[in-house]
Amino acid sequence: MAGWFASAGEKPYRLKQLKDWYFKRPEVKSFQELANFPKALREKLERDFAFLSLSLEEAKLAPDGSKKQTLLLRDSLVTETVTMPMDGYHTVCLSTQVGCPVGCRFCFSGRHGLKRNLTAGEMADSLRCSLPPSGAESLNLVIMGMGEPFYNYEALKTFLNICKDGFGVGSRRVTVSTVGVLAGIERFAADFPQMNLAVSLHAPREELRRTLIPRAPSEIRELLPALKKYFAATKRLVTFEYAMIGDVNDSLREAKELCELLKGFDCKINLIPLNEVPEGDFSPSEKENSERFVDYLKGRGMNVTVRHSLGGKVGGACGQLADRRNGDVPKKS
Ligand code: SF4
Repeated sequence: MAGWFASAGEKPYRLKQLKDWYFKRPEVKSFQELANFPKALREKLERDFAFLSLSLEEAKLAPDGSKKQTLLLRDSLVTETVTMPMDGYHTVCLSTQVGCPVGCRFCFSGRHGLKRNLTAGEMADSLRCSLPPSGAESLNLVIMGMGEPFYNYEALKTFLNICKDGFGVGSRRVTVSTVGVLAGIERFAADFPQMNLAVSLHAPREELRRTLIPRAPSEIRELLPALKKYFAATKRLVTFEYAMIGDVNDSLREAKELCELLKGFDCKINLIPLNEVPEGDFSPSEKENSERFVDYLKGRGMNVTVRHSLGGKVGGACGQLADRRNGDVPKKS
């Protein structure tokens, strides 16, 4: 944009003005609304650029206060975001891909495979459309929506830099979740040592994990050393995400194996009650199994929390994001 303003004979301060409109005024949706730009300049900008790469298609508000937004991309695919109010701040969950190539068996987002990567601009526009009224300062950003973020690393990196330098989101308030892309973990540690890393584990032994995540990019025996290296480099605690699936991974056997696997590793375990998805093969853990699992881990001194999932009533909870327009229903021409 700096080059464009220069070649259009505009003063350099126009760039700062444009950034202010984009980053500080999320209600503005077109160049025509830039009140301090002359009409001719607004028209030139409109001719050469799109102000936003997506538009709001639908917003659904859940009884728990969370909001799922469906955003229409220019090729008629859609991406989804969820904004959840939590004790004085908001958590925004964003996607990095349309669909997902990993195809975890309990997740709806990967049901139709990967359609395409999102661009950094599309991710930034998704965040802009999802900001709470209080803005980016009281925001937690979690990259846990559709897609495997580290399979789209370059765009993710650009976007995370935009979050910090443009929107002003604090690094420590950003969490990126991966299913275990080793090269991505290494790059993330080097590029964003103050951000947080979550890893989808879901099973403490390889053969069970493979049944749940058939296309897991790494084996547990490779993943653990990579994460210990990550911790040594960043001093940030890794969070292991563990979906509690009824009679699949929630017995005492798995609780014991999980303790054994993570023994001596300073980390957090976040147990996620399974969210039901359409035509899903699995059901959530029974309450007593889930409690027994938690008690066992706590009794062994593990740092364990149980996620309070929001947005389930509007298809906005973990594993539920996906839109029929990206799969079953033919795309608009
Ligand atoms: S859980 Fe994450 S990695 Fe697995 S299919 Fe869903 S979006 Fe992809």
